[in-house]
Amino acid sequence: MILRSLFLSTVAAMAPLMAPVSSFAAEPQLKVELSPSSPKQGESMTVIIDPPGNLPPSDASQLTVSFTKSGAALAENYPAFPLDAEGDRYRAIIPTSPLDSHGRTLLQVSDTIETRNLAVWVQKRNFPTQRITLRGSGSGGATQYELDRVAVFKDLVTPIKYWNGIFRAPNSGRVSTIFGVRRYYNGVFANDYYHRGIDYAAGYGSPVVAPAAGKIALIDYEKNGFRVHGNTVGIDHGQGVVSILMHLNSIPTTLKEGDLVQAGQQVGTVGSTGASTGPHLHWGLYVHSVAIDPVPWRNQSVD
Ligand SMILES: [Zn+2]
Repeated sequence: MILRSLFLSTVAAMAPLMAPVSSFAAEPQLKVELSPSSPKQGESMTVIIDPPGNLPPSDASQLTVSFTKSGAALAENYPAFPLDAEGDRYRAIIPTSPLDSHGRTLLQVSDTIETRNLAVWVQKRNFPTQRITLRGSGSGGATQYELDRVAVFKDLVTPIKYWNGIFRAPNSGRVSTIFGVRRYYNGVFANDYYHRGIDYAAGYGSPVVAPAAGKIALIDYEKNGFRVHGNTVGIDHGQGVVSILMHLNSIPTTLKEGDLVQAGQQVGTVGSTGASTGPHLHWGLYVHSVAIDPVPWRNQSVD
């Protein structure tokens, strides 16, 4: 274990040396800081970019952040947003998933002059497993209507950052299922399944609050076709970060899509609507459409 972490930190420390030959002459001008430097599967990674001189905040588009997962042929690009009005620093947030391979990945950060290549080691994480027995074919799959609405919501990338500081638990109940649990259905491992959030066990009517500030971007109901999600509230925290709160019993009639909510503001009550076997709250935290582990966001502020 000690050897392994030594090895990992060595890889991380060597990463700047792995930059292309073109940057051998001097210290890189484009500074890049990662947190954490070796994310575990399912954690998001913050990339702080400090370009040489100042780049006007409107010029974030001059920065390219691309990430190639372990074993993947293609890189994916992620947007960077200014951290301050002066344009000193920018930030991109990159999700990793329990479905991604662990191991060496490549992070590439470029401005118009320079490209930094950083080797990032995604650490293996062992998630608990559940064995589920399904009988018959079942009739309660998701409707196309709910899949489409939820997909559009998870894809939101609003330039404004609404959240501030650490995220709070959206319900005071105990955690009944942690993030990332994998499943066997009738003895067969489900390759595409992981628990995309945290479940809180609480009674009907227990308050559900916004885990962080944001804009209400989705309100919909089981009766409209939200057969799996049940009564649902989606909060856009900005910059590609969204929360989904599912299986609600009730949603305040005064709450509307487009409303701004503060952290801790009540947005519903615990229920068992949709595909749910008993009253509980499911909170999913997504970064660029990928469900990530909310726990690090509860412990440390991403600012
Ligand atoms: Zn759940």
